[in-house]
Amino acid sequence: MIVCKFGGTSMASGHQFHKVKHVLDLDDSRKIVVVSAPGKRFASDQKVTDLLIEAFYEGPSSKSVALIIQRFEEIREQLSLPEELVEQLTSELHQRLLASQGELSSRLDAVKAIGEEFSARFFAAFLKSLGRKSRFADPAEIGIYMTASNQRAQLLDESYEMLKKLKDTQEIVVVPGFYGYTKDGVLRTFERGGSDITGSILAAAVQADLYENFTDVDFVYAANPNIIESPQQIEEITYREMRELSYAGFTVIHDEALMPVYRKQIPVAIKNTNNPDAPGTKIVAFRPLTDQPVTGLTADQGFSILYVSKYLMNRELGFGRKLLQIIEEEGISYEHTPSGLDDISVIIRSHYLDSKKEQRIVYRVLHELGAEVAYFKHGLSMIVLVGEGMRNSTGLAARATAAISDTGANIEMINQGSSEVSLVFGVLEQDQVKIVHALYDAFFSRVKVRT
Ligand code: ASP
Repeated sequence: MIVCKFGGTSMASGHQFHKVKHVLDLDDSRKIVVVSAPGKRFASDQKVTDLLIEAFYEGPSSKSVALIIQRFEEIREQLSLPEELVEQLTSELHQRLLASQGELSSRLDAVKAIGEEFSARFFAAFLKSLGRKSRFADPAEIGIYMTASNQRAQLLDESYEMLKKLKDTQEIVVVPGFYGYTKDGVLRTFERGGSDITGSILAAAVQADLYENFTDVDFVYAANPNIIESPQQIEEITYREMRELSYAGFTVIHDEALMPVYRKQIPVAIKNTNNPDAPGTKIVAFRPLTDQPVTGLTADQGFSILYVSKYLMNRELGFGRKLLQIIEEEGISYEHTPSGLDDISVIIRSHYLDSKKEQRIVYRVLHELGAEVAYFKHGLSMIVLVGEGMRNSTGLAARATAAISDTGANIEMINQGSSEVSLVFGVLEQDQVKIVHALYDAFFSRVKVRT
């Protein structure tokens, strides 16, 4: 049994629906299909989910509502589906936009999920129109139960018992990604990009042989192809490596999506709907080590550092805990805390901060913790080298720092050792691109290995 998930570009038009159907025809163990909302057809296009969010704030007579209906109407026409489907979408959309009961965040979730719901309804209807045995599966009916947290809900573990029943399905089950329901029947979504999570949960629940994540790239590349021309392809990568890469900028798969399949050790394949014959990238628990210690290189912007210094900090019991407690009390989740004898830095995603929060934190660190120095620095990038082979490779950090220093850029922070498979450099955002080039040249060949 294979669980496969098709992303937004795969569901972007009637033409793409045909390709997805073709992928299903190639292997009849592809029985559970998770779909995203229609995504971008071309670079400047808008995703249906983004239009839905706009519609939520702009109201039922906004341009976004007209665009959403038009997108689905086009798909309907291209696939010759019944008109009732678009009528049903229109009435559901208006109803959810006009709903006044419940919290704002849950009303927003209900609107955001319409893209996935109707993508799945349309696709199931399309398969049926071609005589395939298939059905739309409502997350409430199959048992995708969620916590009530706003827009970042999590699955309730008890869902697995119910979802397991899908294993015996004889027909193709089309499941909308991205959302489920609380035990009280309130719709909740995962984080943006969360259809990957739905797919992974279903693969874990039915103990699938494989979870296929169909997107619009043939492979996961060792570095961002928008920065590095023709980067190396990754054929096999471990869950841990992929987790580190997807955390810091690799958008191929949502970082939360690996957990359910990882727990059950179900392999994942990243594949291309537009080129299903390409073998894709396999994500596995173990892989043989090669002579290349670094598997991938990624960079992400938008970080800030809080620098704190206090003489004899290392001897003060509880200093780190109290510092992190201040951060916690401001509702901030931190990323790294590299430290020295008398110094500690806390790396935070800048979107958590505003000037009032920063002032409060600095004030408390100086006055409550008695630090001599405390200040924020913004505009940082985290550059992450990832590879299972890194821990057995001597001189790797030296090679990396030499490559960075050759660019003339300064390293603001290094975090090595806490993760066995990654090495993190904090640098100024304006130096990011040249450092990515320098590190790529230091660790990867320029040989094109595309098939
Ligand atoms: N449609 C949702 C989004 O754009 C979820 C997904 O595509 O995975 O974030």
